[in-house]
This record gives sequence, C-alpha cells and structure tokens, in this order.
Amino acid sequence: MSKPTARPKPIVLIVDDMPDSIAILSSCLEDEYQLLAASNGHTALKLANEYLPDLILLDVIMPELDGYSVCAQLKANPDTAKIPLIFVTALLSAADEERGFAAGAVDYVNKPISRAILRARVRAHIAQNKMHHELLAFTEELEQKEQDAEKAQRLLNAVLDAIPIRVFWKDPDSRYIGCNRHFANDNGVSSSEEIIGRTDFELMPERANALQAFAQTVIRTGQSLLNQEGAITTHDGKLTHISLNHVPLLESDGSVIGIVGAYEDITQRKHTFDALQDAKLKLETKLEEIVSLQEKLLEAALRDPLTGLYNRRYLAETLDIMLAQATRNQMPLSAVMIDIDHFKVVNDTYGHPAGDEVLKCLARFLSSQARTSDIVCRLGGEEFLILMMGASAENARIKIDKYREDFSKITIRHQNSAIKITFSAGVAVYPDHTESSKKLLEYADLALYAAKHNGRNRVSIFN
Ligand SMILES: [Mg+2]
Repeated sequence: MSKPTARPKPIVLIVDDMPDSIAILSSCLEDEYQLLAASNGHTALKLANEYLPDLILLDVIMPELDGYSVCAQLKANPDTAKIPLIFVTALLSAADEERGFAAGAVDYVNKPISRAILRARVRAHIAQNKMHHELLAFTEELEQKEQDAEKAQRLLNAVLDAIPIRVFWKDPDSRYIGCNRHFANDNGVSSSEEIIGRTDFELMPERANALQAFAQTVIRTGQSLLNQEGAITTHDGKLTHISLNHVPLLESDGSVIGIVGAYEDITQRKHTFDALQDAKLKLETKLEEIVSLQEKLLEAALRDPLTGLYNRRYLAETLDIMLAQATRNQMPLSAVMIDIDHFKVVNDTYGHPAGDEVLKCLARFLSSQARTSDIVCRLGGEEFLILMMGASAENARIKIDKYREDFSKITIRHQNSAIKITFSAGVAVYPDHTESSKKLLEYADLALYAAKHNGRNRVSIFN
C-alpha cells in the first residue's frame, strides 16, 4: 500500500446515510482534521480509493451497501486495507461488535456520539496507525540495509576468493579473524570459519615465531612490511616460495587493531628466475668461448701455419703502424729480408718434409734470437722478414750477420739426414732509405738480391 503523503492535517472520511449524523461527526472533528463525507457505500469506496484517508468513520446500517460490506471491500483492496476503520453505530450486541472486528474494524463508537470519546479514539487510532507506518518503514529500511550488507559481504568474499593471492587478517594477539579461500586451502581446510580464532602455532608451528614477529612489528610500529620472501610448507607437504606482505589494519581513528597479511606463491616465478639466471650464465660462458675462438681464428689468420710466425697479411696490417710509431719515437726501423740459400736443393735432395723441418728450424732460431720488440714474419716459401724497431741499418746488419753465422753452424737432423744450411739477408732502413712502406720492402729485397749475387751466406745493406 502506498504511504500517506505528508498532509497539513490528517484526512478523515465520514460515511453515513443520515446527513444529520454526518453533520454531528463533522462538528466534532473539523478543527483537527480534513474531512471527507460519503452518504452511501459506493461513494465511500470511491473516496477511500481516491484520497487514501488516514481514518474512516463508517456507519453500519446503510441501504444497498451496508458498513460490513464496505469494510470487506476496503480490506480486500491492498491500497485501502490498512486504513484504520471505526464503526459508528447504535447497535450494541456483542455479536455485532464481533462481526465488526472480524470484518477488520479497529474500534467502535456508539451513537449517540460523545464528542470527547470520538475525538480521543480518532486521535489514538490515527497516531497508532502513523506509528505503525513508521515502524513498518523503519523495519523495511533495516531489512534493506541488512540485505545490502549481506550482499556487500558476499561480494567482498567473492573478490577475496577470486584474487590469486592468499589473504588473512589477525587481531592484535595474532589470532586469525578472517581469511580468503586460498589461504584456508593452503592450511588444508575448505573455509575461513575453520581458521578464525586459531593462531600460527596451531596452523604452521614451524613458521609461527617468524610470522608472529612480523605481525607484532607491524602492530607496534604501524608500518607495513612488504615483499618479505620466504618459504612455507603447505598442508600437502609442498614447499612453496612466497612473497609476504603485512599491512596494519586500522580503525577509522587511525589506531592499529590488527594486521592484514597477503602472500603470493612465487615458486614458479622463482624457478623461472633461477632457470633464467642459469641460462644467462651458460650464455655468457658460451659467449666467452666464442670470443676466445674468434680471437684464435683471427690470430690463426695472421699466422703461418707451418712455423707459427706472423704471415704476410699480418705484415701488411702492421707495417704502416710500425712506421708511424717509429716516426713518433724518432727512431729508425730496419727491415731485414732473409732467404735460405739453395733451399730447392734441400727439397730435391731430402724431400719436402726435410725442407719443412729446415723452415721450422730457422723460424725457431730467429724467434729465439729476436728482441720482443722485433717482428719476425714468414712471407712465403723460404723467405722471412724481420722488422727491428730502433735499429739502424748497420746495427741490423751486425745483428743479422751474427744470426747468419750462428745458424750456419747448426746441424738440422731429419730422419737419418744431417743438414747444414745458410741464409742470405738484405737490410733497408726507414726513414734513411725511404719513407714508403712498400719501397722499404722492395729495397730490403734488392739488398737481399745483392747478397745472393755476391755469393750468398752474407748480409747486405741497400745501397
Ligand atoms: Mg445509518
């Protein structure tokens, strides 16, 4: 039924077939109420529906539709059913009264009318009905609020259960006052009700001291403790790595009334991280191997495979740099071209393996004699070159001549052969003979040619 809207005065509907009665009743009430009047049952029903009066005074005996019938119809209509209804009648038998109450009346007023009684009863029933409405509205509101609260709680629980994180909250004594389903499941139970009231000493004794310490620190300081990594053993015996957070649970005035904890299972993430670290380490090792291999390959590309000396390519890459260095240091740089005498005879007489042995022997000899700053190369065949930083042509000649003499005394043994061998050498010097790297090698070659021409087993300086 629709609630009566706020009215300046309560509305009272007077129903009576006698105009005199209406007049008397009206005179009793008109100062306090807004009055409507109906002289028959049909009009009464129409007005009641239209105005929803706060109270109806209903005559019992009327032609056509009597008071009981009107009452029954009003009660049958939800809109008018709750309107308090007082019968006004001269009938006084107990059976009549019972019939009226059974039909839904709240009271009787007898004719002839007593002004004081009528006014008191009307006032009382209107007040009672008003209170009844207010109580009803209050109850409805309360029910609605309860429903809303339950709905909010259900939603909160659903949210807490949906997030893939373990959530719990504890009172200041570290006793659980709530948790989500994941947390309950980790502890081997299906619902939070089985966790509430318990402590970590019951739930996870091996971690209880540490967890208690976290909670107490948060309660004491009011500060959060975040991302504490650790491990727990869940009820099924699985070791689980977790990232744990403790946040103070605050009252609206800011006082700490407990803690909220949440942790995440980071086992998978940790394994992935470890695997990544492992892969990274392996990759780094592999990378080092590759770099080392590259260096070896590069070195190999610059070395003569037979003797291990630098090759012509290395010389090409280095010579100009060395010349620049000599210029910077204001030093001479001697280039010594060396060629084994009658090498073809060695090959023809003893075979190529013997020839290779001679080449290797000379390479070892030159390397052992040279200073660390000297560069010894094999240019190909039986031809070698030594770059001597800081050596004048004469210094180089003296040094190489000593090499020549010492080497000529060496007996090279290959299988059953004992081979004696000599070399010739030509010296050109930078910058005295030329400032061009290309010409420096040409001039050293020409000096070598001169040494060969003059009888071999000797050292010539470019002239
Ligand atoms: Mg009557």
